[in-house]
Amino acid sequence: MLYVKNLHKSYQSGNKSYNVLKGIDLSVADQEFVAVMGPSGSGKSTLLNCISCYIPFEQGTITLGGQELNGLDENGLAKIRNEKLGFVFQDFMLLDGLTMRENILVPGIIRGKADKKAEKLADQLLTLFGIEHIASKYPADVSGGERQRTAVARSLLNQPLLILADEPTGNLDSKSSRSVIESFENARTKLGTSIFMVTHDSFAASFCDRVILLKDGVVYDSLEAEPGHREGSRGAFQDRLLDAI
Ligand code: ATP
Ligand code: MG
Repeated sequence: MLYVKNLHKSYQSGNKSYNVLKGIDLSVADQEFVAVMGPSGSGKSTLLNCISCYIPFEQGTITLGGQELNGLDENGLAKIRNEKLGFVFQDFMLLDGLTMRENILVPGIIRGKADKKAEKLADQLLTLFGIEHIASKYPADVSGGERQRTAVARSLLNQPLLILADEPTGNLDSKSSRSVIESFENARTKLGTSIFMVTHDSFAASFCDRVILLKDGVVYDSLEAEPGHREGSRGAFQDRLLDAI
């Protein structure tokens, strides 16, 4: 579904160039929940920004849903971002003046299509994530976990193939983190969405199917969970992750 091949990215500072990504190869399958972990500064956010085409990169190819993203013009990239990708950020990025339900509808408004179909989907997402009771509240009046579940619902309004999430549980306690991870899991199983999540949190990562470890600009390891680990051996997977990072 997502294929990244030989991705290189450097940043310029004065007349110096810093190589941050030095040939990244990875893939995410349909309906797969993948985490990326690695030390601060190892290039995790840079990798997400390259996949979402927010920053240019020097070398490599990115293919999403069978379409190569290199070489698309700004209109083509905007279309990919609107129709095939969903985004979730550490600090929620909700609009304070809108209710939670209206926040979920924002991608529809941007697309010029906040129609009855979008409203129906927003209501289904509110129910799926157990946040229908806060539909009419404003971001300032709900908990962090509820804000982030609303942000996950918003990321799904355009029915993307893939959600890109950068530290989605970074501002949350473990109970709220779990509710957010469960909303990703619901998106995966009920809507067929794939999830690619950057995290520092081994607890959040232990719910994933696979965890990719990034260090010094390369993928240095990849750990796969045992089948059925969410029901049984999730703790053992978390222990393996803690040993590996
Ligand atoms: P963290 O875990 O702290 O979020 P990260 O793995 O997401 O870190 P990145 O934000 O991708 O790391 O940054 C990787 C490296 O690239 C860092 O050394 C950072 O200082 C540098 N970097 C990031 N963005 C820029 C930029 N716009 N210009 C120059 N250097 C940058
Ligand atoms: Mg980062």
